Amino acid sequence: MLHIEEKNNIKYCVFENLENSGLVNHCFSTRIGGVSKGVYESLNISYTRGDKKENVDENLKRLSNAVGFNPKNIVCGKQIHKTHVLNVGKKDCGCDICGYDGYVTDEPCVVLCTFHADCVPLYFLDVKKKVIALSHAGWRGTAARMAEATVKKMTDTYGCNPQDIIAAIGPSIGKCCFQVDEPVVKEFRKNIDFTNDFIFNDENDKDRYKIDLWGVNKKLMEEAGIPEKNIEVTNLCTKCSPELFYSHRNMGNNRGSMAAYLMLKEF
Ligand SMILES: [Zn+2]
Repeated sequence: MLHIEEKNNIKYCVFENLENSGLVNHCFSTRIGGVSKGVYESLNISYTRGDKKENVDENLKRLSNAVGFNPKNIVCGKQIHKTHVLNVGKKDCGCDICGYDGYVTDEPCVVLCTFHADCVPLYFLDVKKKVIALSHAGWRGTAARMAEATVKKMTDTYGCNPQDIIAAIGPSIGKCCFQVDEPVVKEFRKNIDFTNDFIFNDENDKDRYKIDLWGVNKKLMEEAGIPEKNIEVTNLCTKCSPELFYSHRNMGNNRGSMAAYLMLKEF
């Protein structure tokens, strides 16, 4: 199960399976406990959305202190809604990376980070090989099978056995709110043969559909070989919880951003 931790007035989401492994520090941030104002209120951790740099610096300092990682060791970059996954290490910390929506590493203290405001964060940990991966899967990434691409990068690069991977699907837009039209549905049907199990007619709008992105990502993880019992799924929809989260569907571009963080501890 996912739960919300509160430390020094900062709130952040934590998954039980990742926490209980004892191998990683991780979180999914909320908007609570920071210093940003206006549409960024208050724990915006993105430097690219127009918020003041000193506020983001302070927010990141507070969050990293609470969760237990060094902000200097963050690996992140511009995400492009595709399924490229990059193998990273110490050399990439603080670099300006572009064109990847997922990262994998076996190096302790390297902090994988992806940004979100409705798009789905996917966390992976091989408990035997001690390899982690983190990816960003909006509807485009989900339909393009990002969950599978991330597991493949772990197996290709590090020889991970999917049976040894535990995974989590983080706060993002739920099937309650993710309304789409025909072209989106077509994109899913083109790439994913079990699509119909996770698409519903919108009761209130006859030409619209709703998609369960959490369900699609979970099924893709299972098809990639991760045991179902190893996968935790969020129960928090970012659009339904404006007090906790920024939501692109609620706020458009005038908003801050949450982030997912995942780091192997040093032993
Ligand atoms: Zn919702």
